[in-house]
Amino acid sequence: MNTHPPLSNIQARDVEALLHPYTPIHRLRETGPLMIERGKGVFVYDTRGKEYIEGMSGLWCAGLGFGEEELVEAAAEQMRALPYYHLFGAKGMEPAVELAEKLKEIAPVPISKVFFTSSGSEANDTQVKLAWYMNNAMGRPNKKKIISRQKAYHGVTIMSASLTGLPYNHMGWDLPVDRVLHTDCPHHYRFGHDGESEAEFTARIVQSLSDLIERERPDTIAAMIAEPVMGAGGVIVPPAGYYPAVKEVLDRHDIIMIDDEVINGFCRTGEWWGCQSLGMTPTTISAAKQMTAAYAPLGAVMVPEDIYQAYVDHSRQIGTFGHGFTYGGHPLGCALGVKAIEIYQKRDILGHVRSLAPVFAARLDALKQHPLVGEVRYCGLVGGVELVADKATKRPFDGKKGVGAQVAKILEGHGLILRAIGDTIALCPPMIITEAELNELFDRLEKGLADGEALVSKEGLR
Ligand code: PMP
Repeated sequence: MNTHPPLSNIQARDVEALLHPYTPIHRLRETGPLMIERGKGVFVYDTRGKEYIEGMSGLWCAGLGFGEEELVEAAAEQMRALPYYHLFGAKGMEPAVELAEKLKEIAPVPISKVFFTSSGSEANDTQVKLAWYMNNAMGRPNKKKIISRQKAYHGVTIMSASLTGLPYNHMGWDLPVDRVLHTDCPHHYRFGHDGESEAEFTARIVQSLSDLIERERPDTIAAMIAEPVMGAGGVIVPPAGYYPAVKEVLDRHDIIMIDDEVINGFCRTGEWWGCQSLGMTPTTISAAKQMTAAYAPLGAVMVPEDIYQAYVDHSRQIGTFGHGFTYGGHPLGCALGVKAIEIYQKRDILGHVRSLAPVFAARLDALKQHPLVGEVRYCGLVGGVELVADKATKRPFDGKKGVGAQVAKILEGHGLILRAIGDTIALCPPMIITEAELNELFDRLEKGLADGEALVSKEGLR
């Protein structure tokens, strides 16, 4: 029986015209999409005028919230001056130069060159192509496989979706492609053995990585890609000591570390870069999302000088560097990137994230008492609340029951937009959120969890 209210006109037009990403499209005709019309600060408003705290910064990206006039102005100015140009065939333009210089200045390791894309997926695709190109240039044509991790999220193009380690990105899509290997997910709560300490768990999965490399042969493996705090995989914060131990293994076999900073970058974790919060040492870096505060699409790949020199050598033989996107380095995205970084710096967004992180952590920690909550995880201003059927045994809910999605829907009723990743509720509020707004977010979350618990009991979902 359809218990949903009838679709509004705009909802009906939407379902007639759009194929929605990451949506149970078989049900969309009944539920209809939540139509968002405008935004201001940390709030967005739907077409019926209802207000929501946007607790996910959209898709982990609108770090400066909505309606930031300085960004709007910068966009208008750039559009008037030069709405489009590109970097192909030895062309250039100032916004791209300025943003590349800025990125080099704030990068966590010495970076020589920045390559722009339109998205995070394209950045990670480019990373793989560049690793192959580099090894061809260096006369190592067999060193091509890429190691990723189970539950990783690196995008949805054919290669980046292959790097992604989530079943619904592979099932039905003929993925992953060859040359991609998945190693263990560094999530102690879910994958630690009974009685295994975090240190023992880390040692075991790093040994498993080392065994995988030996089995596949080190001279066939080019790179490992890792997102410091794994966002879309369920906000997984690896144990301390994990990345340094991984790096030791990679260095032994001359395997580079690709650092996916698409969510983590630009102050989100309480440092400029997630790698700095987690003790990871990258070789190359992917960035996107908060780079422009999401006011325009843009991605970037950053590479060090020695790797850049390998491309130069190769391009000398081939004649040209045969890679690039029409909108990679779009002047609008670059101008917004420059402005967003300027705002992060002049308003000390990093300091603000650090000052709120303890409040965020304390409110999340308090949720551990809730009967639905198995684990809470956080780093800076990104967090996750994992809902379980049985706290004592960590037994998850039957995935088919969709408990996480139902709780996320209940939260919308309370004026809070969060994202259910399976049964983990993710939080990634705009970094400009005030302490009062953050507390309001958690008050709404607590109400939603109470309703969620009532629903789970009533419907017998355990
Ligand atoms: N890497 C990470 C870590 C991401 O979270 C995402 C997007 N959620 C991507 C890559 C892909 O970025 P895009 O959606 O811009 O292609």
